[in-house]
Amino acid sequence: MREPMEDNQIFDRPISDYPRLLRRYMRLNELSTDLVSTLNIDTLLHRIVESARELTECEAVSLLLLDPQTGNLKFEASTDLLLEGLGCTTVPTDNSIAGWIFSHSQPLLVEDALQDIRFFREVDVLTRFETKNILGVPLRTKDKTLGVIEAINKDKGSFDEEDLRLLQTLAAQAAIAIENSNLFQQSDLVAEMVHELRTPLTALVAVTNLLRRPELPQEQRLRLAGTLDEEVARLSEMTSDFLELARLESGRARFHREPTHLGGLIEECLEVIRPQAEVEKISLELKVDRSITPVPGDRNRLKQVLLNLLNNAIKYNHRGGKVSIRLIKEKGDVLIAIEDSGRGIPPEALPKIFDRFYRVPDPKRETPGTGLGLVIAQRIVKNHGGVITVESEFGKGSIFTLHLPCESVQ
Ligand code: ADP
Repeated sequence: MREPMEDNQIFDRPISDYPRLLRRYMRLNELSTDLVSTLNIDTLLHRIVESARELTECEAVSLLLLDPQTGNLKFEASTDLLLEGLGCTTVPTDNSIAGWIFSHSQPLLVEDALQDIRFFREVDVLTRFETKNILGVPLRTKDKTLGVIEAINKDKGSFDEEDLRLLQTLAAQAAIAIENSNLFQQSDLVAEMVHELRTPLTALVAVTNLLRRPELPQEQRLRLAGTLDEEVARLSEMTSDFLELARLESGRARFHREPTHLGGLIEECLEVIRPQAEVEKISLELKVDRSITPVPGDRNRLKQVLLNLLNNAIKYNHRGGKVSIRLIKEKGDVLIAIEDSGRGIPPEALPKIFDRFYRVPDPKRETPGTGLGLVIAQRIVKNHGGVITVESEFGKGSIFTLHLPCESVQ
C-alpha cells in the first residue's frame, strides 16, 4: 500500500509522455463536462463509473454512496456485471478499504488488496470477482463526503500517481453532479406533488360553489356532499403518501429490522382486507410453505407493502373474482406472490406502473387511488435488498411478486 505522493510532479515526466498525458487530460475534460449534463441519478452514476474506468484504464470501477439509514456504504453502480450484481450490498465504514477512504476522506492506492487487512473479502466472495489492486478516491463536495469511487485491477502494471490525479479530478466533478441531481430530484418531487394536489382541490372548489346555489334540488345536494367526502378522503390519502415518499426518498425514514414471520404477517393482512373482499364477493386463497423461517425486516413497513398489493388486487378486480397468495422459497429468496383475476395491465403500461403518480388510463375514473402505492412499496422492498416484480395479462389478471432475501443484507 502506498499513500499518494505530494501534489506535483506531473511536469517531471519525460517529454515523450506529454502527448499521452495531454490526451488523457483532454478526455478527462470531455468526460467531466458530460457529467454535468445529466440529472437522472442512475444514468449519472453509470456515466461516472464508465468515465473512471476509461480514464484509469482498469478492469472495473465501482461507486459506493453513504446509505444514511444504515451508516454503511452501499454499492450504487459498477462497470462490471459481476460487481453490478452487488445491488444493495453494503460495506461497513470501519472495516473496508472503501470505508477507510470514506472516513479519512483521502485517496488510497493499494497494490495488493489481498495483503491489506482493511480489504473487505465478502465482496469478492459474493461476486467471484478477483480484486488485485485498487485505487480509491472519496467523492467529496465542499462540506461533505458522499461516497467513494474505486478503480480495480489496472490493465497493465499498477495504478500510478497520474491515474490518481485523473480520478481525483473526475471525482470532484462527479460529486458536484451527484449533489445537483439529488437537489433536482427533491425539487422535482415537490413540484409533482403540488401539481397532483390541484385536481382534488379544483374539484373541492367547484363542488362548494355549486352547493351554495339555493335552487339546487336536495338529491343533487346529497350527491355533491358525497363527492366532497371522496375528494377530502383522496386529499388526506395523498398527504400521507407524499409524506411517506418524501421520507423514503430523502433517506429520513428509519427502518427497524427484526426477524419477521411472513406467514403470520400475511394472515394478519388478510384479516384487514377480508371485509373489503366480502363486499365485492372476491374469494381469498392462501398457500404457505410452513418451513419458511423468519426473515429480517421492518414488520410494519412490510405490512404496508402487502396491504397495498392486496388492496390493489381487490380494487382492480371484478365482482366475484379471486385473489390467491402464495408464500414460497426460491433459491436464496422468499417470495410472496399475489395473483388476481382482475382487469390486468396493458403491456405498454407495464413498465410505467412503478413510476410516481402513474395510473393506467381509466376512462370511467371509477377506481380511487394516488398512483403512489407501488412506488412506495418498491422503495420499501428495495431497502430490504429485495424487489417487486409484476406479470400481467390484460383483461385476465396480474401477479405481483415480492422477492425478499432470506439473509440480512447488511
Ligand atoms: P393507485 O392504486 O393508488 O393508483 P398504485 O401505485 O398502487 O396506485 O398502482 C399504480 C397503477 O398500477 C394503478 O393506478 C393501476 O392502474 C395499476 N395497478 C396496480 N395494481 C394493479 C392490479 N392488481 N391490477 C391491475 N392494475 C393494477
